[in-house]
Amino acid sequence: MEFRDLKKQYQTLKGDIDQAMANVATSGAFIMGSPVKELEQELASYVGVKHCLACANGTDALTLALKALGIGKGDAVFVPDFTFFATAEVVALEGATPVFVDVDPRTFNIDPKSLDDAVRSVHDLMTLRPKAVIAVDLFGQPANYPELRAITKREGMYLIEDGAQGFGGSIRLPKPSGEGFIVKRACSFGDISTTSFFPAKPLGCYGDGGAVFTDNDEWAALIESYRVHGKGSYKYDNVRIGLNSRLDTLQAAILQVKFKAFKEHELADVNNAAAYYTQLIEGMTKFLNKEVQVTPPYVPEGYTSSWAQYTIQLSVPSGNGTFNREALQAKLKANGIPSMVYYPTPMSAQTAFKEYHNFALTPQAERLSKCVLSLPMHPYLTREDVKKVVQTLVVSL
Ligand SMILES: *Cc1c(COP(=O)(O)O)cnc(C)c1O
Repeated sequence: MEFRDLKKQYQTLKGDIDQAMANVATSGAFIMGSPVKELEQELASYVGVKHCLACANGTDALTLALKALGIGKGDAVFVPDFTFFATAEVVALEGATPVFVDVDPRTFNIDPKSLDDAVRSVHDLMTLRPKAVIAVDLFGQPANYPELRAITKREGMYLIEDGAQGFGGSIRLPKPSGEGFIVKRACSFGDISTTSFFPAKPLGCYGDGGAVFTDNDEWAALIESYRVHGKGSYKYDNVRIGLNSRLDTLQAAILQVKFKAFKEHELADVNNAAAYYTQLIEGMTKFLNKEVQVTPPYVPEGYTSSWAQYTIQLSVPSGNGTFNREALQAKLKANGIPSMVYYPTPMSAQTAFKEYHNFALTPQAERLSKCVLSLPMHPYLTREDVKKVVQTLVVSL
């Protein structure tokens, strides 16, 4: 069994993907060929924002967002302590200061209450300007944007959505009129939102890729300039220091095929697999008289996930004795089941960030780093696969 079966996906979509790649090779337009613009329009319309700008990877997408918002030295940027390194790395790279915030113990996403506390600590210290929040849609589930937006509005901060893992997720929100609901998709929640097309992400290409989303014309124009060496009126007029961060035409053409499958069935298929996982875990572990408790992922009412990961929590309720996660992973592996620990180290404990001041305690991030386990998850996982994983897990505890 594969953790994320990209080979099976390719076999399923092979005809169309091969044709798309051959078309690009035939056209010779390897940089900024027509599939790039077409894909940007398709993604913007799906997400429900005015502008989508493709770029080289999800890390650059975040960097482009920070540059467009003019974030740098003296600015505090609040990031969840439990995430992939890039979320906080880009902040430091731009010369701003990452401030690590604890996460919700059930959704894994940045905790609005802890954000409030961290903002207060930064105000108290008086050396940094609270400038922006980068919320992450961890494991595919949108962060708590209604509450986060209330805080950023009150504080006059920007809200950036790191949707690298979140593309395809959504939140059902009450209409401003108070009557009925609207469904708002991931990558539309930030002032600027970003995603990644790294192969293992919910919508992945065959190499590196990323995109930036915004409704704001001015920021979109800046991002368009920054991604091609800070170009001005044309390519050899350079008005600011930028990056070389374009999405290859080949990747855009592959993404067009994969995006179609994503909309037609893959997003529904991962949600079915997740629902079956949760049903089996709840059913099987309830009757087990084991020391270890298994908690399936929690999706709040009105939220949908794109299941970048299916991540369980393992805990010993009595609190005496720690659970041996490596031993469990070894037993799963012996039965042909791969598993991963996302993430083993909170950001605030990373060596690279050891010089940064800790404004807040992050006990949930610390606890999660010790108790999470991600199981095989992708649209081509069968019900038999899910059953085998859960059965093996239960007997291995
Ligand atoms: C993968 C990821 C990124 C970076 O994306 P790349 O395309 O690998 O540069 C950023 N943030 C999060 C949360 C991610 O999971």
